[in-house]
Amino acid sequence: MAAEIRLLTCLTDNFGVLIHDPATKATAAIDAPEAAPIIAALEREGWQLTDILITHHHHDHVGGVAELKKKYRCRVVAPQDKAAKIADVDLRVGNGDVVKVGNLLGRVVETPGHTLDHITYVFDSEKTVFAADTLFSIGCGRVIEGTHPMMWDSLLKLRALPDDFKLYCGHEYTAANVKFALSIEPDNPALQARAAQVAKLRAANQPTLPTTMGEEKKANVFLRADEPSVAAKLHMKGAAPAEVFGELRERKNKF
Ligand SMILES: [Zn+2]
Repeated sequence: MAAEIRLLTCLTDNFGVLIHDPATKATAAIDAPEAAPIIAALEREGWQLTDILITHHHHDHVGGVAELKKKYRCRVVAPQDKAAKIADVDLRVGNGDVVKVGNLLGRVVETPGHTLDHITYVFDSEKTVFAADTLFSIGCGRVIEGTHPMMWDSLLKLRALPDDFKLYCGHEYTAANVKFALSIEPDNPALQARAAQVAKLRAANQPTLPTTMGEEKKANVFLRADEPSVAAKLHMKGAAPAEVFGELRERKNKF
């Protein structure tokens, strides 16, 4: 039986996500920005929270953990990097570990850069990836704790996922990301198509996610730092992709 997935808005522009296994009734929250909208969504569906899968230590991803754990006595899964000091953790996971949510299997991919502890959960059988603040639609997370080459490596790991995998992210940043991407690749037809779609969705107050890895590979300039045309646009012909990526990230920070 296929998983059921619900996307919900938390705080200002964070996304909460629930993934539910109909066979076992297990339900996991991917991150817990705040408890109230997650509890409301669970009650609406009649689901019990069994697991919280944390991607990284930032407060807007773990702020609801204590309250949810108290209410549901759920298991809390978090990155193994203990330096990140996430509270209430039951299971620490690293690269290649597989987390069970009922019968659903979430594979852990370490994707450091935004933070050093950042992990991504890939549910291969559901063709779904929860990339939080590593990969956004048409963007990527700020490189706060890691380095540009480290973040580029993390993005390459995600880019290797199949085109038909659905991508869920930690924030609704797509419209701003599209603006920046168009400043670099105004003639990219996949980006133009995504821009039109995003404008329509936002005008209707709809989320721009999930998207697919295939669409992102074509339209997300941060996944295209090794395209010669992108390097040329930045006057960086022949530069290492990680350097081109770093320049893109710096420009986006100031955009
Ligand atoms: Zn973050």
